[in-house]
Amino acid sequence: MPELPEVETIRRQLAPALEGRRLERIRVLDPRWCEPAPPEAIADALNGRMIERLGRRGKYLIMSFEDDVHLVMHLRMTGNMLLTDEEPSHTRVRMDLDDGQKLLFVDVRRFGTGDVLLGSDALAEYFASRLGVEPLSPDFTAEALREQARGRRQPVKAFLLNQERIAGVGNIYADEALFRARIHPLKPVGTLRRGQIESLRDAVVESLNQGIDAKGASIDDYRHVDGARGSFQDRFLVHLRKGEPCVRCGTPIEKMRAAGRGTYICPKCQRRPRRSPASRK
Ligand SMILES: [Zn+2]
Repeated sequence: MPELPEVETIRRQLAPALEGRRLERIRVLDPRWCEPAPPEAIADALNGRMIERLGRRGKYLIMSFEDDVHLVMHLRMTGNMLLTDEEPSHTRVRMDLDDGQKLLFVDVRRFGTGDVLLGSDALAEYFASRLGVEPLSPDFTAEALREQARGRRQPVKAFLLNQERIAGVGNIYADEALFRARIHPLKPVGTLRRGQIESLRDAVVESLNQGIDAKGASIDDYRHVDGARGSFQDRFLVHLRKGEPCVRCGTPIEKMRAAGRGTYICPKCQRRPRRSPASRK
């Protein structure tokens, strides 16, 4: 699933092609994409409007039009945004721009979504109920993270994956960040010491920035807007590296389960937490 760096890569590639252009026509070929709104309502709201800005919040892309109209899109499992003249199979939405470009939302598994929101207040409300702090914003401080973590017994990996806590971190970047911070994924987040919280905050930011720098990770369906692949998968420190040596200590990387997801750790650098008396009962 595309995470923050993958979506940010798409945003950076698309923004120069879209901003200032007029959307002549949007055709939603698969009504599931925008339900409960019908495709005609999406077309009525957007057709003929100028695209002012392409933004991002967590894993969401935000196409902002003139008159404070916004199209919020989520790629979910297998969604891709492609600028192309061809129309591949699994094209779910097609947008024709006033300069002849075609922007497609292509999605094999069909979990991707598009919502039209009228006005900045509606947009803010939409995200307030779904997303926590933006990790690449100045709001994501060690202090903010400590505030969120306080008193929680939830394992730190599950905490990182919860979009209502930190927006945009998924399975890849959670593994990479926890390795960088030398924290075991099952450690209860409320038991992290101040220094560990600071390391974790820095590690999340560093992992996301590395991902953006490599233009995302293409380990599944994720592609750039021209169909090319990202290269962050070649730079993983632990993710998908089972049996390979830890880059720090040489110990073979292990695969385990945490938060219901395949999770990769160095068993030496990331010590399993001792069970507390409370959890032994
Ligand atoms: Zn190690």
